[in-house]
Amino acid sequence: MKKQPNILFIMADDHASKAISSYGCGINHTPNIDRIANEGMRFDHCYVTNSICTPSRAAILTGTYNHVNAVTTLETPMNNRLPNVAKHLKTGGYQTAIIGKWHLGEGSAYEPSGFDFWSVLPGQGDYFDPLFIEMGEELVEAGYVTDIITDKSINWLSQADKQKPFFLMCHHKAPHREWEPHPKNRSLFADDVVVPSTFDDDYKNRARAAAEAKMRIKDDLTYDDLGLVQPEGGAEIGEKSRLFSSKRKIPNPDDTSELCLIDKDTGENFKFNSREELSQFKYQRYIKRYLRTIASIDESVGRLLDFLDTHNLTKDTLVIYTSDQGFFLGEHGWFDKRFMYEESLQMPFLAKFPSEVPAGSICSQIACNVDFAPTFLDFAGLTIPSYMQGESLRPLLNQADIQNWQQVAYHRYWMHRDPDHNAYSHYGIRTQKYKLIYWYNEGFDLPGTNHGGEDKEWELFDCENDPLELFNVFNEPNYHQIILQLIQILEEKMLEIGDEPVH
Ligand code: CA
Repeated sequence: MKKQPNILFIMADDHASKAISSYGCGINHTPNIDRIANEGMRFDHCYVTNSICTPSRAAILTGTYNHVNAVTTLETPMNNRLPNVAKHLKTGGYQTAIIGKWHLGEGSAYEPSGFDFWSVLPGQGDYFDPLFIEMGEELVEAGYVTDIITDKSINWLSQADKQKPFFLMCHHKAPHREWEPHPKNRSLFADDVVVPSTFDDDYKNRARAAAEAKMRIKDDLTYDDLGLVQPEGGAEIGEKSRLFSSKRKIPNPDDTSELCLIDKDTGENFKFNSREELSQFKYQRYIKRYLRTIASIDESVGRLLDFLDTHNLTKDTLVIYTSDQGFFLGEHGWFDKRFMYEESLQMPFLAKFPSEVPAGSICSQIACNVDFAPTFLDFAGLTIPSYMQGESLRPLLNQADIQNWQQVAYHRYWMHRDPDHNAYSHYGIRTQKYKLIYWYNEGFDLPGTNHGGEDKEWELFDCENDPLELFNVFNEPNYHQIILQLIQILEEKMLEIGDEPVH
């Protein structure tokens, strides 16, 4: 048998491809993550099947869609007796570990399984002095979470058996809300970041879901999100101390009152008289905090790649960098994810493996997170079990422009109108040219959902002519034939994967 390669899978939480410099947007610089792209392949159309943390992680580990693994919302933990890719790799000769964010449940029925070593953050985890659950034991680690996850990863790699291949899932908490940067990075990005052209989107020509979502930078960010407090005695904090932190939303000033906000770390004061002035401040504050947390991830990736170089492991290791979904960075006025719109649907996906993956290559074929597990098993030379629903990406990694790759991406968001974000449930497909979305607007009494029953709607976006997704053309006569074809593709995809249409 050919030597089994090591697999280093690095995943961030909520890292939009736009915030990786090799994707070419130019809002930040990530030289170490870019090393993976420069020495390997960048995927431009890798998509998540359900754009939130827990379901995406379940899809990655099991290679199945969420109606199969039953992890449909943030409140449906993953039964750890399900088969998963770590179990297959472990029995197939690998030493396996997961370090960092887990977010698939806690306790003996939900803790990581299939891993020789696991050290994970409970729930969302903390940025500073985080608690870990390590092999079932609670352990508080002093320091910054991204550094600690990196240290633990390097430590495990250092002690790994040199005679056996390894599979390490290094899962960062960052850049997840509430975007707490390392103190040394708090002054990065002195210059303002360009505001996306759709920041002031009025949500016309779209399904009702877009206007109803409570994910707006202007209205829905909290004091904690932006590292702000109000002065002592302020309306938001009452009798509490000045350093009281709050998950309450920051109000917009009205015509008669001035809003005063204070940086919780430096004590700096900010005063606002208008909603517009405050909106610009919120965007800059949000995007800079987000990008600053990514600076630490980039440093972490550099340390891991250096470790591989120093220990002569680079040529034998498949390295992947991805995120559990995309993220809105002010497009359509939003932060957060959940929607099938492109910024949230697209996962960054970079992979390098010198002997097989051409350096500096770009793949524009459609890939999905259910494909990751089959890909690992393919590289490991192990059988891809028939229950897995994804395809191995190895043929694409060998040849980016492969001609007979007919994949469409299927997305389904189940968590109808959760109280925090009010995003509507939907399913649909993304092809190379089009995106079809059916807003079915039902909760089905799943944990974390609202009952539903709002009017159902369809959306069609022409991804080539309207990449910003500002015009729903579902009712345009010119697209009638295309819609019929796409509905058939959607039905076939649902039949293939065994998901039931909502009528
Ligand atoms: Ca996430």
